[in-house]
Amino acid sequence: SLDTLDLKSLVRTIPDYPKPGIMFRDITTLIGHADGFRAAIRRLAAPYEGEKIDAVAGIEARGFIVGGAVADRLGCGFIPIRKKGKLPWRAVGQDYQLEYGTDIIEMHEDAVKPGERVLIVDDLIATGGTAEAAVKLIKLVGGEVAGAAFVIDLPELGGVAKLSAHGVRSHALIA
Ligand code: IMP
Repeated sequence: SLDTLDLKSLVRTIPDYPKPGIMFRDITTLIGHADGFRAAIRRLAAPYEGEKIDAVAGIEARGFIVGGAVADRLGCGFIPIRKKGKLPWRAVGQDYQLEYGTDIIEMHEDAVKPGERVLIVDDLIATGGTAEAAVKLIKLVGGEVAGAAFVIDLPELGGVAKLSAHGVRSHALIA
């Protein structure tokens, strides 16, 4: 059943992608499985059902797939957080560290109204740098971060602890 389905067995791990030494966690096999996808969305949304959530913010690109479905489940809107230069309207940006160098994510400046409660969703948290940048964007425009939900956590990389330092609670379905 959906409640007992083992989601970890539906994730494919690809060695040496995108470069040697990286073990890439591929959720296409999970979201391609009807019950796997449905169970994942329910488990991501579950802690927030019955809470006031004004929007889900999903991080490009897999966060759009998962976050859009979570927003539907919670009955709230969806906010895309994108790589620099992709959004059509005025945007606020935040840089964050990559392994080599930095990158920038952006959000429309009017996507969140002051005081609105936003749930961040992505497929995976590693160092937490990307999700931390999303937290900063939401707070910059006066929003509140209700929490952060991930399909996969790589706990040894410290991302959940990094969000916790900002007062943001996280949960992940697979660690
Ligand atoms: P972080 O900023 O180090 O936490 O990296 C998380 C971001 O990188 C997320 O947007 C993920 O989609 C992506 N990411 C990092 N490693 C993986 C992986 O193994 N599989 C899929 N996405 C990954």
